[in-house]
Amino acid sequence: MSKLSPSDQGTVDYAAWRELMVQNQLESRGILDPEVLEAMRRVPREQFVPVEERDAAYEDRPLPIGFGQTISQPFTVAYTIEALQLRGVERVLDVGTGSGYAAAVLSLLAKEVHSVERIPELAEQARTRLKTLGYNNVEVHVGDGTLGLPERAPFDAILVSAGAAQLPTPYFEQLSDQGRIVIPVGEVESSQDLLRFTRHGDELREANLGLFAFVPLIGEYGWRG
Ligand code: SAM
Repeated sequence: MSKLSPSDQGTVDYAAWRELMVQNQLESRGILDPEVLEAMRRVPREQFVPVEERDAAYEDRPLPIGFGQTISQPFTVAYTIEALQLRGVERVLDVGTGSGYAAAVLSLLAKEVHSVERIPELAEQARTRLKTLGYNNVEVHVGDGTLGLPERAPFDAILVSAGAAQLPTPYFEQLSDQGRIVIPVGEVESSQDLLRFTRHGDELREANLGLFAFVPLIGEYGWRG
């Protein structure tokens, strides 16, 4: 990754790895929003991966987090969150809590984050981790995130970190006017177009942000489990 080794002095300098990750994987690939870059500098990604993966936490790839799931690559997290165009005042729905890492980054950029995970064990681990690390404006919910979270709607932004076959219909009615949804959508489970939908009154305008590969979104409005 660089000449700097994380264990040159016998201790692992995760902050140094984090800075290199921001420079080499994010800034150099066009992540420009200073608030997003600052949030990526602040969240200790090594705390969101299994202990045996800690020294790989800042590598340019997704990592396994158990239950067949992954924590997304740092660039993917920064790129999807930048696309939400947050200003610090939003109520955000985060679908696919996984490790809780994206929820932690979102929590520094929005007012309130509601994160939904279908695997109860992952949700519980993420809830404990986020609480321990002091991300107090995140609430983790267990359930099918393809249904949204009607009891906490409306949302100003919805981030989906798993690939859907199409946009789950409940999201539109749970999105405020001018709200944004960023979601990977693809007809095959293994590859998706990352789409951003912006609500203008009764309309959704769509922008294509490029090709990605996410784990499948499983649920009533997603793939069958
Ligand atoms: N954002 C996560 C992080 O920062 O670690 C990574 C998300 S991982 C790529 C996708 C997650 O979506 C998995 O944990 C998976 O269990 C979850 N998932 C899949 N379908 C879901 C659904 N319908 N509702 C909620 N979570 C779902």
